[in-house]
Amino acid sequence: MHIDPDHDSLSYWHATQEPMIPVDDVPATAEVVVVGGGMLGVWSTYWLAKAGVPVVLLEKSAIGWGATGRNGGFLTGGAATGYPALIDLLGRETARQLFALTMLGQELAHEVVHEEGIDCDLRRTGTLSLALSASGLDGLQTHYELLRTDGFAGEMLDRQATQALINTPLAEEIAGAFLAPTGGLLHSSRYLAGLARAAQAHGARIVRAEVTGIHTAGDHNLIATTAGSIEAERVIIALNAWTDTLVPETTNVIVPTRGQILAYEPREPIFTTATGADITPTGEYWQQTPDGSIVIGGCRADAPNKDSGVTDMTATPDVIAKIEGVLPRLFPNLSDLQVARRWAGLMAFTPDYLPVVDAAQSSVSTWYGGGFCGHGMPFGPIIGRYLAQAAVDGTLSDDVGILSRSRPSLA
Ligand SMILES: Cc1cc2nc3c(=O)[nH]c(=O)nc-3n(C[C@H](O)[C@H](O)[C@H](O)COP(=O)(O)OP(=O)(O)OC[C@H]3O[C@@H](n4cnc5c(N)ncnc54)[C@H](O)[C@@H]3O)c2cc1C
Repeated sequence: MHIDPDHDSLSYWHATQEPMIPVDDVPATAEVVVVGGGMLGVWSTYWLAKAGVPVVLLEKSAIGWGATGRNGGFLTGGAATGYPALIDLLGRETARQLFALTMLGQELAHEVVHEEGIDCDLRRTGTLSLALSASGLDGLQTHYELLRTDGFAGEMLDRQATQALINTPLAEEIAGAFLAPTGGLLHSSRYLAGLARAAQAHGARIVRAEVTGIHTAGDHNLIATTAGSIEAERVIIALNAWTDTLVPETTNVIVPTRGQILAYEPREPIFTTATGADITPTGEYWQQTPDGSIVIGGCRADAPNKDSGVTDMTATPDVIAKIEGVLPRLFPNLSDLQVARRWAGLMAFTPDYLPVVDAAQSSVSTWYGGGFCGHGMPFGPIIGRYLAQAAVDGTLSDDVGILSRSRPSLA
């Protein structure tokens, strides 16, 4: 694959695991076609192949070339907003159900990675959310109490207990933290390539082709691609930031949004958990990988219009400079970190910060999911399973009705 360094800086994940480039040919027909080789498309393909359904996955570049291979590698249950905001939006019971769905997604990922023997550094480290003020700690306390009452694990840590998890002195402003013990970390590119290979082993075909249009002919769909056309009975569209190119009703609902991120040269072990803090209103997050590299992203609030609507996958000096300021501010002894690489990827945001999962209006027997608001990893396995089930049953389960395009918060 041709990579233009001016436009596509390699992520740490791609630099340490060459992305998987599909080599299969485009077949003339398929029972199910999945469009998009990010985590949602690969999970949908995996479940279908495992159930013995003939499935073809179409990816325009390489497996994980979108957000999935450029992200922070956090696998942590929950949605993009905290639990109190989720309850405000959905009401207590529905928020609980949705949160439980993401916890199930997280667990499914662990199960399948283990079952398929996928070597992707998946580890249950816990996810630590740092409070940078007394009021920040109060906010995390509310989040914790609501979660605990609804049966979800969590722990509040004071400054000393927080320090025990981080092997460098904390800045004064760190008041404590919330720990989600089931949260985990992984190597995004190895994870997805491993899952794609498992899908192939179960019979899936994975093809490099860009879908340019889907046309309904009777009860079939004709999928036009840059490598030829395919006739398919059922289609799953898993394009996240690119969803509106094939699902017009998601225009201005699933909005591409650039996320910027960098990796530091390896250091001695410092961070033992997935860690985040809100230095800016859009949040910062980081992990230390097994080779000692530190991958950190965020500071979107410092970009013009928070990088909303941006479809260029290039990091910008202003946001990167802000990210470089995060760790030295929170951990004074980390003033000598050396940046190894910088990159960007496309997330997709919705107005209510929840993904959309629905049937597409413009073609028959076609379903889609997208708009994960920078928090797709726990959703992928479970939403992929619902989409795969829709392609088998011919209808989408009511379980994900709360995520439909017609929900009131997207009106
Ligand atoms: C910088 C950054 C950090 C993040 N950190 C985290 C994190 O730590 N944890 C977390 O949970 N989430 C994180 N996210 C969000 C998470 O990565 C996404 O929610 C998730 O990867 C979306 O997966 P997807 O499969 O829906 O889309 P993508 O991974 O974007 O996949 C879509 C695929 O479709 C392909 N494609 C596009 N158009 C076509 C076409 N016409 N035909 C064929 N193929 C096409 C693309 O090449 C791409 O491979 C982050 C995102 C970014 C950008």
